[in-house]
Amino acid sequence: MTLAGKTAVVTGSNSGIGLGIARELARAGADVVLNSFTDAPGDHELAAGLAQEFGVNARYIKADMSKAGECRALISEAGRCDILVNNAGIQHVAPVDGFAAEKWDAIIAINLSSAFHTIAAALPLMRAAGWGRVVNVSSAHGLTASPYKSAYVSAKHGVVGLTKTVALETAEEPITCNAICPGYVLTPLVEAQIPDQMAAHGMDRDTVVREVMLQRQPSKEFATVGQIGGTAAFLCSDAAAQITGTTISVDGGWTAL
Ligand code: NAD
Repeated sequence: MTLAGKTAVVTGSNSGIGLGIARELARAGADVVLNSFTDAPGDHELAAGLAQEFGVNARYIKADMSKAGECRALISEAGRCDILVNNAGIQHVAPVDGFAAEKWDAIIAINLSSAFHTIAAALPLMRAAGWGRVVNVSSAHGLTASPYKSAYVSAKHGVVGLTKTVALETAEEPITCNAICPGYVLTPLVEAQIPDQMAAHGMDRDTVVREVMLQRQPSKEFATVGQIGGTAAFLCSDAAAQITGTTISVDGGWTAL
């Protein structure tokens, strides 16, 4: 598979899953646009590193995905957007009757509304190019719920609904729109939580990972950012041209329970 000549915009991609997806798309030959809301030298160095490693064009564009105008400006500044990956996301955990309204608004804005704005801005560019792929990063929480995650679960279910709607609106065009639903993924943030969990539960690493962190993941293994990236790259391949409006779970069996 080659994605040479395609440009991929990946929101929230200066760490974790977004960076893993950008890496796999670059490995497949796509030019990539990295994004987050910061503008640190390290952000631009990440893009330079991908360009050097994979021989593609890569750049970093600062845009805050909590702001509608910046979501749309990201796409126009990118200039091309053959592949759009909506990945930016945040989490907050609290009971619904104690959930801060500002946290609710921020999660809905970053995890759901940003995808509406970037898709709206990117579809005309995909139509002009005669090809397009939208990959939305939802979650196992786009298909199931957990207590204390009302905003996150609502936003991720909303992403699945948006995915289906955009797929139907583009069904007769060479454009697809799908969602990836990861279970627990081993990102640097998750890795950093393991020592605290070990201390809190008085367990060794393997036990705390199996019994606490991966309690709902039947495989008892984290998914990796490379596996999520590989799934995104597959959704951009010719083999996936008739896959649209669906969800692909990468969750070690979580949603089979
Ligand atoms: P992460 O915190 O490492 O990455 C989140 C990314 O979003 C970062 O690059 C961050 O800078 C960016 N971001 C946050 N707020 C932003 C804003 N206002 N504007 C632009 N960018 C912003 O976390 P991650 O685990 O890699 O999560 C990535 C996506 O995967 C999220 O949508 C998350 O909900 C989803 N997800 C993660 C897991 C998991 O286990 N890690 C599981 C299922 C789904």
